[in-house]
Amino acid sequence: MEQQNSDTSLLSEIEELRYQLEEARDTINAIRTGQVDALIVKADAGHQLYTLKTADQTYRVFIEKMSEGAVTINREGIILYCNTRFANMVDTPLEKTIGQPLLFFVPDTSKNKLEKVIYSSWNEDCREEIILKDGGGKDMHCLFSCNTIELDSGIALSIIITDLTVLKNTEQELQIRNYQLEEAQAATEKLNNSLEATVRQRTHDLVISREHFKLLTNNIVQMTWTNLPTGEFTSYNQRWYDYTGLILDDDHDVVWEMVVHPDDLEKTLRLYNNSLKTGELFEIENRYKRYDGVYRWHLNRSKPLRNDGGDIIFWVGTATDIEDQKQEMERKDEFIGIASHELKTPLTSLKGYLQLIAGYNKEELPPIVKQYITKASVSISKLQSLINDLLDVSKIKAGRLEYAVGNVNISDLVNLCVENARHVNPTYTFITKLDDEYIVNGNQERLEQVLMNLINNAVKYSPGNKTVTLTIQQVDDNVRVGVTDSGIGLSYDQTDKIFERFYRVEDKQNMTSGLGMGLYISKEIINNHNGCIGVESEIGKGSTFYFVLPLI
Ligand code: ADP
Repeated sequence: MEQQNSDTSLLSEIEELRYQLEEARDTINAIRTGQVDALIVKADAGHQLYTLKTADQTYRVFIEKMSEGAVTINREGIILYCNTRFANMVDTPLEKTIGQPLLFFVPDTSKNKLEKVIYSSWNEDCREEIILKDGGGKDMHCLFSCNTIELDSGIALSIIITDLTVLKNTEQELQIRNYQLEEAQAATEKLNNSLEATVRQRTHDLVISREHFKLLTNNIVQMTWTNLPTGEFTSYNQRWYDYTGLILDDDHDVVWEMVVHPDDLEKTLRLYNNSLKTGELFEIENRYKRYDGVYRWHLNRSKPLRNDGGDIIFWVGTATDIEDQKQEMERKDEFIGIASHELKTPLTSLKGYLQLIAGYNKEELPPIVKQYITKASVSISKLQSLINDLLDVSKIKAGRLEYAVGNVNISDLVNLCVENARHVNPTYTFITKLDDEYIVNGNQERLEQVLMNLINNAVKYSPGNKTVTLTIQQVDDNVRVGVTDSGIGLSYDQTDKIFERFYRVEDKQNMTSGLGMGLYISKEIINNHNGCIGVESEIGKGSTFYFVLPLI
């Protein structure tokens, strides 16, 4: 029975509570939708009536739709009214927020601050950042804007709560970005500074290098110039101006015409233009006019300066005064000419007398004397060939290397020379590769002289491998005669110079006798036969000297 009574009372209590909840919901809904203008709140001091004096329907709806939380509290800090947004912010059902102290929705750490804000706000409007607890216990940074409002029942505090989460996040993001920006700025500045320092250093180096170049070019005894790939001259050193005595205006194009001897001009221009076209070294000996009208021989050399891509940026040229060397060389040539001529006469008599001695009653001569006569004859032959070479050089210089021409059978010539060489060099093997008969127009003795010179050199400069090969072949309308040895060979630079007068390779290990005249004479002879002479060689491996002559 007792049990039945308590169940009944519990049921009625639940019913009463449900009724109260429904009532609360209705009330809140009525407030939100503007159906009521006042409400009674049960507080410790008894029931209190709050009139929503200014909150007419339009404003309440407006507040309800705001994206900010809106709360009205009384002097005790109890929430009289809040909009749905606020309820969502604190993740609490609307009916459970109204009637609760506002402090309930802030974390302990912020309670003190909120109390102070609320306290001040009763006297004047306040705005302050306060942390709100959301339903999940997470902190939410909010801006509380507090204003007092006058209700029928007295003054209440209206608080607009703006969620600063997005703002804070953006601020934080901004801070990070700012920080990153600052770091990037610092890095850029550092880079900039280092770049500036590099540029400063480079500029300084450049100035030094330019001054260095200027100083150098102005102090050397050679004249120097620079020109563009198009041929236009861009600068000259002081020596150039001092020597030529010229003052140039902008017209740098006629410079060759102004300074080079008229007889050397055509060749100079031809080689210069050819170098500009091919990018090859420009080299020529020509006569330069001095300020006083005197011409002096100069050696001109110009080389191109290329960029990383291999294109020519500009050319740097020099002109070296070789007038004194030229005169010296001429004196030497003159002396050689006179000396060889003077030597020829006594040598011819010496040879004649030796022949007389050799022919004189042979039986009466002791064998040792016969030996001496043979040795003396060999030496005289050598001396004679040396004097002949010297005489040839003089003749070439004087333009008097003359000889009669007729048909020359090259195949016979080769056989004859090889025969000769075999006789003189019995330890050497001579191989001939002859495929046909070839006839050229020329001088038999002079061509023999050339071929013998090439064969003798092949023997002289191949002390190790004693095989010399002679190849005769037709190339277009020409015959090509090649003499190949496997001797000491020549470097690229040396092959360039060996056809010059008196040039000999300075090789202490392979020093042989000679005066460096043979190839010079050979070249002249072959050129006079409208042919050409050349060499293919590799140092340490051997050489092939060849000449090419037009066939009849
Ligand atoms: P010479 O032999 O009297 O010195 P040449 O005019 O015949 O004079 O030769 C000039 C230079 O060329 C020689 O001193 C030598 O250094 C080089 N030379 C000539 N022929 C050969 C060769 N077959 N192999 C290597 N070097 C050679």
